[in-house]
Amino acid sequence: MSQEKTITILQLYPNEMNIYGDWGNVLTLGRRLQWHGYTPRILAHSPGQKFPNAVDIIVGGGGQDSGQNKVQDDLLKNSAILHKLANDNVPMLMICGLYQLFGRFFKTADGETIKGIEIFKAETHAGPKRLIGNVILDTDFGDVIGYENHSGLTVLDNNQPAFGVVKKGAGNNGTDQTEGAVYKNVIGSYLHGSLLPKNPSLADTLIEAAVTRKYGEFNPEIIDDRFAQLARATAAKRPR
Ligand code: GLN
Repeated sequence: MSQEKTITILQLYPNEMNIYGDWGNVLTLGRRLQWHGYTPRILAHSPGQKFPNAVDIIVGGGGQDSGQNKVQDDLLKNSAILHKLANDNVPMLMICGLYQLFGRFFKTADGETIKGIEIFKAETHAGPKRLIGNVILDTDFGDVIGYENHSGLTVLDNNQPAFGVVKKGAGNNGTDQTEGAVYKNVIGSYLHGSLLPKNPSLADTLIEAAVTRKYGEFNPEIIDDRFAQLARATAAKRPR
């Protein structure tokens, strides 16, 4: 019998940072890993807990400003570990509220500054209105389809690559057509929806990075993504 190959997925702050279906990203990674012949192990990290030693993929979601406030200290405490893992090519997907806190800071509408860990060279200021609706992006991973709901307007530094170019929706700030940010295998994005069930090739990109990093090669199975394709087509036709 062949040796079991395990991939550990760590979800950051599932109680504080997990809205609009973000948990679906973890479920999708877990299920697709199984379909590809790997054994997923799903862990959670909450404020105050010891950061786990060995992780292969890290996923984080969005949250209210109050949720971001609750995780700020713990995130800053674990900044060095997260930087080390990012530099070591660990794939990560950070959505909305945690995307903002993987940048320099989020300044809320109340004028409070919630500090981030600056894996992305970007900063976020609350804007005058919430940006809500369906989004389509042109990215290196193909067309990405999702849903955004944020007040924060994120501006990338000149040397910070975006995740994608907005074809429909607002994206980082509603003005410069950029959406999200990428550093090595770390992707930040405003798109919930949730993102990975509707974007299987993006899910497999994260899986491939994790499996190759751990086992040297990735031998994917062919997966029937008919339902995901239908969901993509329906979401793409939706009005903003
Ligand atoms: N609270 C942040 C904002 O409003 C993040 C929102 C979110 O994660 N959906 O911009």
